Amino acid sequence: MHAYVIGNVAVDETIRVEQWPLAGASIFGSHGSSDLGGKGANQAVIMARCGLATTLVAPVGVEFRAQSIADRLAAEPVECRLLRQEGKSSDFSIIFTTPDGENAIVTTTDAAENLLPEDALPAISEAQSGDLAVFQGNLSGATTEALLSEARRRGMVTAFNPSPLRPSFQELWPLVDIAFLNAGEALALTGASGEAAAAVLHARGVRDVVLTLGADGALLSGGGAPLRVAAMPASVMDTTGAGDTFMGVALASAFLRGARLDELALIHAARASALTVSRKGTLNAFPSIEEMSAILAQL
Ligand code: ATP
Repeated sequence: MHAYVIGNVAVDETIRVEQWPLAGASIFGSHGSSDLGGKGANQAVIMARCGLATTLVAPVGVEFRAQSIADRLAAEPVECRLLRQEGKSSDFSIIFTTPDGENAIVTTTDAAENLLPEDALPAISEAQSGDLAVFQGNLSGATTEALLSEARRRGMVTAFNPSPLRPSFQELWPLVDIAFLNAGEALALTGASGEAAAAVLHARGVRDVVLTLGADGALLSGGGAPLRVAAMPASVMDTTGAGDTFMGVALASAFLRGARLDELALIHAARASALTVSRKGTLNAFPSIEEMSAILAQL
């Protein structure tokens, strides 16, 4: 069993400022942190740290950031197919933070938006029936649809996290086996919440639906009666990547056991996410390989 995560990777640079820059102003700031992020990279690294054989397929530019992305990912147990986009910049985020804890984020999407299906399709040409194909919302709707269709044609299990939201996602549900959404995404895409939102997605063809509800835990609707799993207590520092941790660990937990998503997968995911929210950063905040192994050993 192999997992292919097809999505974005981005460099996150955090700059501390005393006040927000106004139009036309030039202000001083200090370096907060540098980390790797992007929902595709986040989920791939999480799954690989869980011990699931995982390939990240992600577009990068042809400039210095592409090399630093490759170097950072080389320290992870994930196999990388970084697809170089001629004439494009690798995606990056500038995150301004102020002393009162507020932040403002600007993210470029040149690499992710411009990835064409023909660039990415060869990366899953060796995928087998039963392998996992994982998608998020950063690639264009057309590319996501083409890749989901190819994954289906190959008999892969498809998992989709519609974040960031795009209206065209409504067309994709018939190609999706497993959906992970937070409460806002569920409301925007189904007009409903909780079990009613899951019912809308089941009616569109989605087999298993996981709704994440922040500190209120998560809901799984699939095989049997819907079940809820509570969030684990955490002293919250930074919730960035909580949803990616939850999705990656839930999928890895189930697939490593050869099981369909179940209560144990969500319990493992909640434990891992509680660690992520208690630390600052993105990849740097995720549970380590050792922590993942201890979490997944718990019954
Ligand atoms: P993000 O966009 O911040 O990555 P998300 O909106 O996709 O997150 P959430 O529903 O906020 O996802 O969180 C996913 C999971 O993380 C929750 O189901 C829960 O298990 C855990 N979690 C989130 N917030 C908290 C919290 N305050 N305390 C403990 N666990 C939390």
